[in-house]
Amino acid sequence: MPKPVLLSVDDDRDVLRAIERDLRSQYGADYRVIGSDSPEAALDLLKQLKLRNDSVALMLADQRMPNMDGVGFLQEAMRIFPEAKRALLTAYADTSAAISAINEASINYFFLKPWDPPTEHLYPPLDDLLDDWKATYHPAFQGIRVLGTRWSRKSYELRDFLARNRVPYQWIDIETSANDPETKRLMEALGPELHNLPVVLFPDGTKLFESAPSEVAQKVGLRTRAQTSFYDLAIVGGGPAGLAAAVYGASEGLKTVIIEKEAPGGQAGMSSRIENYLGFPSGLSGGELARRAVVQAQRFGVEILSPQEVVSVRTEGPYRILKMADGEEISCHALMVATGVQWRRLGAPGIDRLQGSGVYYGGGTTEALSCKGEIVYVVGGANSAGQAAMNFSKYADRVVMLLRGDSLSATMSQYLIDQIKATPNIQLWSHASIAEVHGDTHLEEISVLCSDTKKVERVPASSIFIFIGAEPRTDWLDGIVERDDRGFVLTGPDLLRNGEHPKGWGLERDPFLLETNVPGIFAVGDVRHGSVKRVASGVGEGSVAVQFIHQYLSKV
Ligand SMILES: Cc1cc2nc3c(=O)[nH]c(=O)nc-3n(C[C@H](O)[C@H](O)[C@H](O)COP(=O)(O)OP(=O)(O)OC[C@H]3O[C@@H](n4cnc5c(N)ncnc54)[C@H](O)[C@@H]3O)c2cc1C
Repeated sequence: MPKPVLLSVDDDRDVLRAIERDLRSQYGADYRVIGSDSPEAALDLLKQLKLRNDSVALMLADQRMPNMDGVGFLQEAMRIFPEAKRALLTAYADTSAAISAINEASINYFFLKPWDPPTEHLYPPLDDLLDDWKATYHPAFQGIRVLGTRWSRKSYELRDFLARNRVPYQWIDIETSANDPETKRLMEALGPELHNLPVVLFPDGTKLFESAPSEVAQKVGLRTRAQTSFYDLAIVGGGPAGLAAAVYGASEGLKTVIIEKEAPGGQAGMSSRIENYLGFPSGLSGGELARRAVVQAQRFGVEILSPQEVVSVRTEGPYRILKMADGEEISCHALMVATGVQWRRLGAPGIDRLQGSGVYYGGGTTEALSCKGEIVYVVGGANSAGQAAMNFSKYADRVVMLLRGDSLSATMSQYLIDQIKATPNIQLWSHASIAEVHGDTHLEEISVLCSDTKKVERVPASSIFIFIGAEPRTDWLDGIVERDDRGFVLTGPDLLRNGEHPKGWGLERDPFLLETNVPGIFAVGDVRHGSVKRVASGVGEGSVAVQFIHQYLSKV
């Protein structure tokens, strides 16, 4: 943590050097001593310190300076750092001005020049002032701060990205905390730049405006570029299946890379509580599972590129070559497709426009706290919707689940149905689907079509979370890897038609169990045709596939 600052301001450079020297020799071990020879420059400096969330313990200013006197400076400086102690340096002739400044301008002390010996005239009163300051000092948050508004899509995407990548940050909603004095001071220090939201402030003083996740990723040290151009095994998708394959592959000596377009953890990372994964009797959050898996993979030397998207694949002899969204290419001998499924979009008017501003797809773990005391609508009746409803019920006043059918029994596991039944603030609205969503800058109302009465009801709403199933996005495999008519990748026996190998196969043997129609390209987890859509089965497939990869590599 950076040391708190002692700032001295004097236009006379000799005096400035002398005061800096004395402050440093007595307090340098615990404080950073900074000097400035102009009050204007010192005010700019204070603004920079505010943006970095640094602390200022003391501001010491000479009274007689051109353009702005010491009292004027301290009054301005106090608006930026009100908790810092303020002292004047004065000549004997200015004593009465200094005394009235103490009364009128909340100056804490004045020192007469010269202050020799400092052990007598400077340090004892300064010790008192600094002791006083320390008594009320709370060290400032030292991580990344994100300023934005709750209803901004960009702010939401950025927060979601940071949360899913487990980058700690402090969220400052400039609307809801507009009356908080510290937020006001921060906003003033940003000045006109505040309009370019979301703003990300880093502890080193760097600011990013209208920041996109990829920019922030670079800055927080997430790796998006490969270290080398060739790998034994490249895995596209960092969900449970991809992570499991990486752990087994790397632990068995394969040089392995994972390319993940959002955040390691995949869909599972969005789950607020997974209760059916073996070995965790009281459940664990998807975020925690992802965190553990990432650490485990990294321990074995797996390189994780995230956020980075694979946009196409091609083959050249034994090489499988992947192209990334930024144009970079990497090649590998064995390729694993573990891209899972993504949320199906809801096609009601207004949904796309208000996405991220009250309309959300998926877990919404980032948003749960913001829904405190509100009514939250959850669309869908499968396990993922049930988990989300349970999570929101801890914060929201009421959670309403909109179900197309008449009950949860056909779509949800019994353990979740039981939990929902036992939670008084979760309410089921059956035969209901979203017909339209309304709102100018953010969601304000929803129109719900009730299929039993054929009526449309319009109700106030500030947040809806949509869980209406998912589909694979596998267009990037076009022309190379065979898929079924819904886009799920075909593997192993599913590729054999009348006992015939797939077109262009060219090998004597049949495709391995999890191998696609291209030798050396495998598919595991939810993206695979016929897969069981569960964390454990994805992990199982990812682990098993590595055995086939070894067999494949032994013949390349
Ligand atoms: C909210 C929720 C709760 C759930 N709860 C449970 C539960 O309690 N128990 C259970 O067993 N299962 C649960 N599931 C299901 C489970 O999470 C999935 O079955 C599992 O995550 C599938 O793993 P996967 O690795 O195959 O794919 P995914 O988890 O979908 O991961 C695929 C990854 O690939 C990435 N990707 C996609 N395309 C590209 C590309 N072109 N380039 C780079 N990366 C790409 C995606 O960003 C994603 O991170 C839940 C799912 C959800 C959404």
